[in-house]
This record gives sequence, structure tokens and C-alpha cells, in this order.
Amino acid sequence: ALHCGIVGLPNVGKSTLFNALTRAEIAAENYPFCTIDPNVGVVPVPDPRLKTLAEIVQPQRTLPTTVEFVDIAGLVAGASKGEGLGNQFLGHIRETDAIAHVVRCFEDGDVTHVAGSVDPVRDIEIINTELVLADMETVDRALQRVTRAAKSGDKAARAEKALLESVAAHLDAGKPVRSLDLGEDERALLRGLHLLTAKPVLYVANVNESGFDANPLLEQVRAHAAAEGAQVVPVCAAIEAEISQLDEADREAFLEELGLAEAGLDRVVRAVYRLLGLQTFFTAGEKEVRAWTVKQGATAPQAAGVIHSDFEKGFIRAEVIAYGDFVRHGGEQGAKEAGKWRLEGKDYVMQEGDVVHFRFNV
Ligand code: GDP
Repeated sequence: ALHCGIVGLPNVGKSTLFNALTRAEIAAENYPFCTIDPNVGVVPVPDPRLKTLAEIVQPQRTLPTTVEFVDIAGLVAGASKGEGLGNQFLGHIRETDAIAHVVRCFEDGDVTHVAGSVDPVRDIEIINTELVLADMETVDRALQRVTRAAKSGDKAARAEKALLESVAAHLDAGKPVRSLDLGEDERALLRGLHLLTAKPVLYVANVNESGFDANPLLEQVRAHAAAEGAQVVPVCAAIEAEISQLDEADREAFLEELGLAEAGLDRVVRAVYRLLGLQTFFTAGEKEVRAWTVKQGATAPQAAGVIHSDFEKGFIRAEVIAYGDFVRHGGEQGAKEAGKWRLEGKDYVMQEGDVVHFRFNV
């Protein structure tokens, strides 16, 4: 499954955030290098549409879809040179599909900052520099390989060499590969290198309870992210940790008290879901109403394969009702009568919120 790595300097609140997300108890101690092994968490994706569907269908159970997070601790300055537990962490980041970069935007004298002061933009640059340096090494190695091949007159190798040289120049200027304007072919060529700075990123600004408004640290992160075309999600990890301990009813009361429409984690999860290029479809039967995840652009058989590989192999047709139509007409029967029920074939590209029933051979 696609997953998102949580990165950031030590003591910025990564473990606190990860624990709140997964409600799992992993160590969150106030000193660097505490959480060494990457921790994987499967997190439900909040989606109010599930409740609406359940009200119509009255199923026995309702299941959300999920997205995976990996807590990658201990990235520090010098990681690309093997400082801290450097290379190991870079290896874990390499395996992720997107990055949630947590930055500390809260002041707290009791919580040590590894660089001695709270300065989120400097922190972002420390991490990004390590990732750029690691990528430079990867690209240099690839260049050496391809240069030999290019010498022997290999045409494809010459094209690849030119591409790698432009990537190297971009990295040399301290810029992430994701900000390079590349064609689909070029992207495909680079994919095999698993470049760290090619991965989509969003910033999670960890603020204090009172730090959502008029917080200069948060504004600095926003300005930096805007220049990169990246999104910023502000949360207070400490509060999220508290909220995650509550049961549903207490949770809503607590959020209301704080004047919040939803938990910050819900915003993080949804932003990551979009960052990964994912979308949701539903199955809605009497037994269960359930949300499922596919990559944007997935076809109907691929979506069927998410439920069961046999569904993909034996795919015949998909019965599809758009979510809005399903709700507007009070369910499948009503949507059918209104002419909103469609029979789609194997080339159908799934749309966000499709309510689907697959027909297949076994
Ligand atoms: P990590 O090293 O990035 O995983 O950081 P941790 O999650 O272990 O957090 C480091 C310390 O900062 C812990 O003592 C947390 O309780 C504290 N902390 C985390 N988030 C917040 C926050 O939003 N506000 C304050 N004041 N402290 C926080």
C-alpha cells in the first residue's frame, strides 16, 4: 500500500503526532534518537459520506478506508554523511511515497531543541539539505554508470546522461527534484533512482494551543511552503494526543469547547491522502458500507482488484452510481429510477465517490 513518511528534526513532535494518529503507544521521550525503528501505523481516513450512506442503506457495519504512516525518527544535520543514524533513516524515507514534514512552531522551555532555538525555516532547510545531498550522491553514481554507456555510443544512454546532468545542476543549486519541470518520460527514467526530493511533501506545523492565529513562526512556514508550492497543515500535536485518548462523544464535546470543527489529525490524514494521489470509492450493501482507496486514474478492474484480486481477474462490468446521485435519490433503487445507474466496462476510469457494485466471473 502507498504510505507517507513522517520526518522532521528530533523533538519537533513527530512521535506525539504519530501516536495520536495511530493511538498506538510508542515512545515519545524528550531526547533525540529515542524512536529508532520506523513505526508503521494504519490510520482510518475520516469521511462524513460514510455516515450519510449508512443512514440510507442501514448496513450491519460501516468501514472507513485507511492510509499508512511511517514514523521516521532521528533525521539530523549530517545524516547524508552518516551522522546520527543518518543513512538508515534516509533508506526508510526512500521507501515512502510521500513525506509529511513536521516542523516545530511552538516555544517550550522544557522541550530541548536540537539546534538550540526554535526556527522552523532553518529546520526545514536542515532536513531538505540532507535530502538534497543524498540525492546528489545517487545522481552522481547514476551519472558515472550512464557516462560509460554513453561513450560506447548508446543513444538512450546519451539522453539519460543529459537528463541526469540537468537534475544534478538543479540539486547543486539546493533545489528539490520535485520542483523540476519534467515530462512523463523523464519522470519514468528517474523513478528507478527513488530520489528523496522527488517525493511530494506537505508541512505539518506543530503549534501550541494558542498558536493557530498570529503566530509568526507559522507564517514563516507558510511563506516557505508557498514558494515551493507545498501545503501547510497546522496542528497542536499535544492537544491531538489528548483528543485521541477520548471516546467519540467526549471527543466532539472537547472539540466544540476548543471551537474546532474537527480534529487537526483529520485534516492531516485527508491532506496526506490527496498528496498521495488517492481517491475513494464506496461499496454499499446491507452487510456493510465501506470506503476503499484507489490511485486517481484507476480503472474499474483495478478498483475491483483492491477488494479482491479475483474481482480484477474475473471483472465483467461495474454498476456505478455517483455518490451525489445515490444520496439525492435515496439509494440504489431511487437512483435507478432517476436514470442515474450506469453499467461501465473495463476501460471506465473511476471517479471520486463512485458507489460501485462489481460483476465478475469466478
Ligand atoms: P520527536 O522527537 O519529533 O518524535 O518528538 P516527540 O513527539 O517525542 O516530542 C518531543 C517533546 O515535545 C515531547 O516532550 C512532547 O511532549 C513535546 N511536544 C510535542 N508536541 C508538542 C506541542 O504541540 N506543544 C508542546 N508544548 N510540546 C509538545
